[in-house]
Amino acid sequence: APEPRQDRSVSGLLSEIKTTIHTECFNDHYTIIPGKELGRGKFAVVRKCVEKCTGHDYAAKFMRKRRKGQDCRMEIIHEIAVLELATTSPRVVSLHQVYEMASEMVLVLEFAAGGEIFNQCVSDREDGAFTEKDVKRLMKQILEGVAFLHQNNIVHLDLKPQNILLTSSSPLGDIKIVDFGLSRMVCNHQELREIMGTPEYVAPEILNYEPISTATDMWSIGVLAYMMLTGISPFVGEDKQETFLNISQLNVSYTEEELQQLDQAALSFIQTLLRKRPQDRATAQQCLKHPWLQSLDSQEGQTAENQEAYHTASSSNSSPEPPSSITTP
Ligand code: ADP
Ligand code: MG
Repeated sequence: APEPRQDRSVSGLLSEIKTTIHTECFNDHYTIIPGKELGRGKFAVVRKCVEKCTGHDYAAKFMRKRRKGQDCRMEIIHEIAVLELATTSPRVVSLHQVYEMASEMVLVLEFAAGGEIFNQCVSDREDGAFTEKDVKRLMKQILEGVAFLHQNNIVHLDLKPQNILLTSSSPLGDIKIVDFGLSRMVCNHQELREIMGTPEYVAPEILNYEPISTATDMWSIGVLAYMMLTGISPFVGEDKQETFLNISQLNVSYTEEELQQLDQAALSFIQTLLRKRPQDRATAQQCLKHPWLQSLDSQEGQTAENQEAYHTASSSNSSPEPPSSITTP
């Protein structure tokens, strides 16, 4: 299996931001909710906090400026710039404020109370797993957000169930795309090749050090759809090597019991995305027009609020088999 290279170019970074960078003490303006760590990555910790002057909840992403001995302030500025660019999309988390300290920057983000869709991908039917109908509505929202980013020449490059959050989990709310830490600006005339992302979710071209494009995100959306419908991570192996081999050989099963119970259009949707050659994959706009997503009833609105109203109006509504429980780490 191909082993990813370690070099990492920094092209495709935005450097202009409009947001004011506050240098006064973060703790004077926000109360951090103790013990409530919302998430943690390699270089960031996300904590729930309350803005003192308004009482509103936020998620504060504390990011180290130095990583592995390197100054990464430019990358944080890029992340802020992308969030600024996406303020008009309701599918992307909104940025409230930015603080800068000696060794950290804090991104004060809209709080997504429902947490990661990952949790519902891997839960049992009794325990709030998505139904196919849920997945259709949420997938439509994910595609709207990604179409917006792609229209603006941004590729996310880390679309996975941990980076898609929900405004609420029960009742099921709307999605918010987060974590633009690996995102890049793509230009037609500039080639971008980088190695990054989480093994299970990376596209074949990343493993082969081939050019990255908006199609790279579309692969990840195929993986996301598969996981949301089945709870199974389609390419994960016993170790990284096996996972990379599965991806580069397109070793994916379409005969899982969980998939057989679905509308065949769901399978066709996934198959238009999990294609080896980037140019063969459907675009976000094309996906939004895919027959699988057209069968949403006209009464079913796009937002959670409309959805609620619909449910109250018609209670005896049989949904397809929800995904069963899963075993991925
Ligand atoms: P990293 O770059 O370290 O992966 P993320 O931006 O993905 O950082 O945040 C890490 C985790 O923190 C997310 O997977 C999610 O669980 C949680 N998180 C991030 N932003 C928010 C938010 N706005 N609201 C609620 N939880 C969040
Ligand atoms: Mg993340």
